[in-house]
Amino acid sequence: MNDVADSRQRLYIPGPVDVPADALAAQTEPMVGHRSVEMDQLFARVQDKLRQAFCTRSRVYVVACSGSGLHEACIRNGVRDPEDGGRVLCLVNGAFGQRWYEVAQGCGKEVVKAERPWFQGFNAYQAGQAVRAALAQGPLDAVCLVHNETSTGVMAPLGPVAATIRGFAPDALLFVDAVSSLGGAEIRVDDWGLDVCLTSSQKALAVPPGLALAAVSDRVLERAAQVKGRGWYFDFLNLEKYLVRSTTPATPAISLIRALEVQLDRMLAEGLEARWQRHQALCDHTRAWADNAGFRPCVPWTRASPTVSTLGNRPGNDIARMLAYAKRHGREISDGYGPQKGQSFRIGHMGETTLPDLDCLFAVLEDYLP
Ligand code: PLP
Repeated sequence: MNDVADSRQRLYIPGPVDVPADALAAQTEPMVGHRSVEMDQLFARVQDKLRQAFCTRSRVYVVACSGSGLHEACIRNGVRDPEDGGRVLCLVNGAFGQRWYEVAQGCGKEVVKAERPWFQGFNAYQAGQAVRAALAQGPLDAVCLVHNETSTGVMAPLGPVAATIRGFAPDALLFVDAVSSLGGAEIRVDDWGLDVCLTSSQKALAVPPGLALAAVSDRVLERAAQVKGRGWYFDFLNLEKYLVRSTTPATPAISLIRALEVQLDRMLAEGLEARWQRHQALCDHTRAWADNAGFRPCVPWTRASPTVSTLGNRPGNDIARMLAYAKRHGREISDGYGPQKGQSFRIGHMGETTLPDLDCLFAVLEDYLP
């Protein structure tokens, strides 16, 4: 990406990511009223572009919050209370799956957790087994799955996983967190039968933080009509009532939506498939560099995320010092997540990052390494 506003400090963390200068600039346009014609037109244009980006013909809600807010929205709209027979399964293989599980608990729902080792994740067979085991104890309103675990860099094969889950639990809603994959990896919401596919603005879309987006199926709205305690801010039925008029119930984040439109135009001009391939090339390039530099990728190639790579440390290297050196030289990468701190480090390669951008980072790291 050549047109970042501040070329001195570059982010290679797994979000937030660098935002192109024209998307940042769009936020400085003069304010308009949120019930104005201009705003309705912007919202309608963005809705159309979002449907293309999510590969869906249904709606995409745009909410002023971060992605975790939509974790909560899924639970509040899609899972009935325990006394009404509601129950949700959370597939957990990392920090964000664990967060969704805690959100569901926090909403007072009956939650079943199925866990897999953090660096392995779920393939279709393992997801199917988890669903079967949960169904043996009672029906499920929904299954929650994190497509791309940013804490580890493990990506689930979403198409086959979704097909398997739907095969075993056709009545359960399938909720997918694509926070660090939408815009960087292939996701086909309608073809793969995802009931909710949610993401945050600050990852592969390369928009500043503060917006959350979710493609939502008709099945979810039908369920929501039967669920008590949906609240107000995240009530999908309320969002729907306003979305059909190209607006939102509460004041939208107008400046962020302007930045989002710039980025959606950029994505669609690049082409979704070309964008997915570019991200895969960034992953391959990172792993090839790691091999040469003596760092071992923590995730097998078949499950490796195209947007974030976790690399195991090499003997004698102090990760904290390496990160501090890179930051002093204008390149920021992340430590391993939670228990992995000091054992591995993460390189985010998403949004508008290019292969030459990665080479600039690798040059700094090579200057540091003996
Ligand atoms: N899910 C995943 C996979 C994430 O990577 C993150 C944040 O990094 C979240 C959920 C939470 O998103 P937010 O910070 O936008 O609430």
